[in-house]
Amino acid sequence: MNLNEKKENISKSFYKRYFEQNAINRIADELLKFLWFKEGHFIHPAKKDAYIKKYTEEEIDNFYNKNLLIMPQLEFCITTKCTLKCKDCCAFIPQIDKIKRSEMSFKEFKLYLDKILKNIDGIRRFVILGGETLINPQLPEMLEYASEQEKIFNIEVVTNATILPNIKLIKILRKYNNKLYIYISNYSDIEELAAIQKINEFENILKENNIKYQKLKNNLWYTEKGFTVNPADEETARENFYNCYRTKCNQVINGFFYICSKASARTILMGGGIEDGIDIINTKNLRKELIEFYKAPYIDACRYCIPYTETVKPAIQM
Ligand code: SF4
Ligand code: SF4
Repeated sequence: MNLNEKKENISKSFYKRYFEQNAINRIADELLKFLWFKEGHFIHPAKKDAYIKKYTEEEIDNFYNKNLLIMPQLEFCITTKCTLKCKDCCAFIPQIDKIKRSEMSFKEFKLYLDKILKNIDGIRRFVILGGETLINPQLPEMLEYASEQEKIFNIEVVTNATILPNIKLIKILRKYNNKLYIYISNYSDIEELAAIQKINEFENILKENNIKYQKLKNNLWYTEKGFTVNPADEETARENFYNCYRTKCNQVINGFFYICSKASARTILMGGGIEDGIDIINTKNLRKELIEFYKAPYIDACRYCIPYTETVKPAIQM
């Protein structure tokens, strides 16, 4: 089969979730590099669609002709403990927190990351999150290790800014500030969080230490409605999956790789759905499993997922 025939056979879900998402994350990365370091070139918003098309074509070539497997995004949930209790938390952290807390150790982090990196050729955006990420005391070691990996292109550390970074963490963030950046979940619209979030202090520390960060206001969230008992039919599942904005949020937690934190929460909270994730360590051919994952028209967990339809204010506390 030549490249054109292969291209014609790419399903719309595979195209969107793998090739186009890689292109979108590459543009975001290039924009940040230009804004922060004056590296590369500025991509004018008016030209974004043309770039997405061009980069998507390049990703197709990378995959089929160069045999490269580049993950558009990979998230590691390193703790399910959190300082907040958001009603519509898309990772169900308040519910998990009560029942089954887990915290990834550096040893586990290295074990999972090494196995993944051995089986792929790159990760465009590596996201470290929780719960509240800064609760995990081994975060600095994890960041140092990840930053040294050539196959990881950039690293985002998500925080709700309720805990200030300690000296050890600041040192690592400074050392790798061309690859690491902080993403502050900014809930300043919620009055009751104003006294809990330390956004200004956090920002000042980052600025003083030349650490790059983003602080976008999450104006709207979606109401989290959980799961159904009975699965949706295949056609509905495909449709929901294709339209879901979270199919890019692929997450590692408890040694498994899941489509998103909602799917992993289903396994943790309801016990079922273990087959929804890929067992990172015990899977013999992880590369093949990952390719099948990107090609899948839907993941079984998505058949039980109630789609996001209603918007709501972010971070309303329980
Ligand atoms: S701060 Fe984030 S992780 Fe914690 S409960 Fe809220 S949404 Fe969930
Ligand atoms: S389980 Fe599937 S449909 Fe539900 S949020 Fe995650 S990716 Fe989307």
